[in-house]
Amino acid sequence: MVDCEEDSLPDVADLNKIEEGLYLGNLTAAVDTKILMKHSISHILTVDSKPLPSRITSLQGMAFLYIQVNDMANEDLLSHFEEAVKFIREGQEKGNVLVHCFFGVSRSATLVTCFLMKKYKISVDEALQRIKSRRRCVGPNSGFLAQLLLYQIMGTSLVENNLQYRLYRLQHASTSMVKGGKKHLDEKYQNLVLPDPRFSPNSDLVAYKCRICRSPLISQDSVLPHCQGETPSWNDSKWSAKADKLPICNKGIFTFPISWMKDASSTLQGKLTCPKCQAKVGTYNWCGGCRCPCEAKIIPAFYFIPSKLDKCI
Ligand SMILES: [Zn+2]
Ligand SMILES: [Zn+2]
Repeated sequence: MVDCEEDSLPDVADLNKIEEGLYLGNLTAAVDTKILMKHSISHILTVDSKPLPSRITSLQGMAFLYIQVNDMANEDLLSHFEEAVKFIREGQEKGNVLVHCFFGVSRSATLVTCFLMKKYKISVDEALQRIKSRRRCVGPNSGFLAQLLLYQIMGTSLVENNLQYRLYRLQHASTSMVKGGKKHLDEKYQNLVLPDPRFSPNSDLVAYKCRICRSPLISQDSVLPHCQGETPSWNDSKWSAKADKLPICNKGIFTFPISWMKDASSTLQGKLTCPKCQAKVGTYNWCGGCRCPCEAKIIPAFYFIPSKLDKCI
C-alpha cells in the first residue's frame, strides 16, 4: 500500500474539538507531529484512500486504525461503523482521539456522527448539528447520509437480518464481485449467504421445494421480496418496516444467495441447479441482474423458474 503523498495535502492543518477527548480534522493535521502533541492525541482513526505515512504510524505510545474508503456515495462505510465506534470509545477512555480523512468533511464526519449517535442515543440530525456547531464545514456525502439513516433505523447497531441491511450488503457484494475482476464473494459479505434448508432443523420454514426430487431449496427468510414493477432499493426504509401491507409481487421468485449455490460465490453468472437431482431451477447474475415478469429489474438476481418449484407455504 502506498503512503499518502505529503506534497498533495490540504494547505492548512485544521482540526476541531468536538467534545472532550474527540477531535475531527483533515489529513494535514494528522501528519503534523506538533499539532498531535499540542492536543495530546493518543489515537488516530484514518478513513481515507491511503494510510498515514510510517513516520506517523511508528510514533511511540500511539494507537491507529486505518479504514480504506473513498469519498464516494456508493462506498460501504456502514460495515465499518462498529469498529470505528469501538476504537473511538476506547481512545476517548485512554486519551484523545483524532478522526480524520482528507478534508475532514465527509468520511471522518460520518464516523464521528455514528459514534455520537450510539454514545448519546441521538438521531443523525442531532449528532450532525452537534458536530457542525464545532466544525462548520462537515457534510457527509449523500450515500453516507443514507447509511447513517439506516444505522439509526437499526437502533445504532448492525442488525444482520434486517431486510434493508441485507439489501444493502447484497448491493455492495455485487459491486465488489464486479469491481476489479474480483472472482469471489468478499469475506465482509459472507454472512449474506443463507444456510441450506435441506439441513435445517425447522422444515416449517421451507418456502419452496424442487418439483422433481422434492428437495427443500429455499427457506422463507431467503426470499428477496419486491413490489410490482419496482426495483428494491436498500435505502428504501419500507423494507425495515412490516412488509404485510406492501404490494409484493408473486410473479417471479428471487432470493438472496443460499449456501448450496456453490458457483455463485465465485462466478458472476450461471445456472442454478438443484443440489440433489441437478435439475435446472433458475439462473443467477451478479452484474446484469434479471427482469421479473412484472417488469421489475432485480440486480443482482438469484432467479428461480416458478414451474420448477413447488410452493410449500
Ligand atoms: Zn431436485
Ligand atoms: Zn415481480
